Amino acid sequence: MYDLVIRNGTLVSPLAVESADVAVDGERVAAVGSGLRGRREFDASGLLVFPGVIDAHVHMALPVAGTRSSDDFLSGSRAAACGGVTTIVDFTVGAPERTIPQAIEQRLEDAAPSVIDYALHGEVVGWHAGRAGEFRDAMDLGVSSFKFYTTYTASGRRTGPREMTAAFRELARLGALAVVHAEDDGLIQSIAARLTDEDRSRMRTLAAARPDLAEQVAISQVAGAARRAGCPLHIVHVSSHIGLDAVRAARSDGTSISAETCPQYLLLTSAVYDRDDGHLFSAAPPLRADGDREALWAGLRSQDIDYVATDHCPFTREQKAWHGSFLDLPYGLPGVETLFPLLYTEGIATGRLHVTDLARILCERPARRLGIYPRKGALDVGSDADVVLYDPNGTSKLAAADLHSHTDFSPYEGKAIVGRVAATLSRGEVVCEKGRIVATPGRGRPVRTGGNRETPKSR
Ligand SMILES: [Zn+2]
Repeated sequence: MYDLVIRNGTLVSPLAVESADVAVDGERVAAVGSGLRGRREFDASGLLVFPGVIDAHVHMALPVAGTRSSDDFLSGSRAAACGGVTTIVDFTVGAPERTIPQAIEQRLEDAAPSVIDYALHGEVVGWHAGRAGEFRDAMDLGVSSFKFYTTYTASGRRTGPREMTAAFRELARLGALAVVHAEDDGLIQSIAARLTDEDRSRMRTLAAARPDLAEQVAISQVAGAARRAGCPLHIVHVSSHIGLDAVRAARSDGTSISAETCPQYLLLTSAVYDRDDGHLFSAAPPLRADGDREALWAGLRSQDIDYVATDHCPFTREQKAWHGSFLDLPYGLPGVETLFPLLYTEGIATGRLHVTDLARILCERPARRLGIYPRKGALDVGSDADVVLYDPNGTSKLAAADLHSHTDFSPYEGKAIVGRVAATLSRGEVVCEKGRIVATPGRGRPVRTGGNRETPKSR
């Protein structure tokens, strides 16, 4: 007799779809099979049973552009739980005067109210070789992936090629992962220098001001540096066809490279910038063309893109108010709660992907790359009992008012969504049921990454 059995559901893994019960003892999966009995039972008839989703890229309470992203770890983690996400990976806030371990301690405090488990990437700002020891200390604190920017000179976040190469050598030695926001700063600056006032006053200029070429060039350069250093590399938010081509080329050259894209690049195009509320869609990289969208879906099918994360960075309409130039907007979109339903709707219901792909893209792959598999990202015996139960029946209209994020708009407002999250379990505990949060603040725990990182080889 187990503590809890999720009965009669359809269990989805990257390799199979099968009718199976999942038994939980304490916080972990104790058995998978048929006819399992528990002191408590959850009837999952008609529901798809997935491992809890890992959103490997979120920004709660991020200080940026003179404001803060509008979700804190409590509201953001509640939104995540309602969307079937059971692990979020946020970032420390890097600064030249702060060591990475100091930033980790601070961010772990910020994250403490979370209702689901969380991990951190260490943001690297103002790095120089004298700070090399910080990586090891960060790893002792459970952080084993480190984020660099090739752009954002103005806010001081850019790391130059020389420093990045030195850092990559250090990370290679430690078996840590380099995570890079790849947009070529030189190209972006040279375009910015030529913009007229009229250009800046049109939201549409954003797409041209941060072109796909900047992504392609930066990915190629960063991948070259990672390959020479022997450092595993992850490219965040790949947005374009030619950016994806650069990932493919690097992989065939022997770089240990993984890539993520985000729902906004799979679902939206720069056409939204022509809307009256186009400024709400400010993001970097910007939204692209239809051909890019389709190339990214194809990249998910071919596994050239490893996983989908959201880059969840919400702002309110007021924070995003238009003051006459796209350069003055905070960049980022909400997404953590809509990740799974949108990918189900646009991926599975349209036939672009198979349900097993979803278990790979949202669960297994991010867990493996972060070195938290199979504790997270799987429902094997011994895995944390992080589960999302998805009801694939029925259609509803997406409305920001129904979501749990601290923001008053959704980029997908009014979209018809196929199915819904019926319930989310985190370590055996129901945290959200039928859109209602039932989790205690602070029940989430930090997750140490890097335990058993898988390095994807050329495929
Ligand atoms: Zn981000």
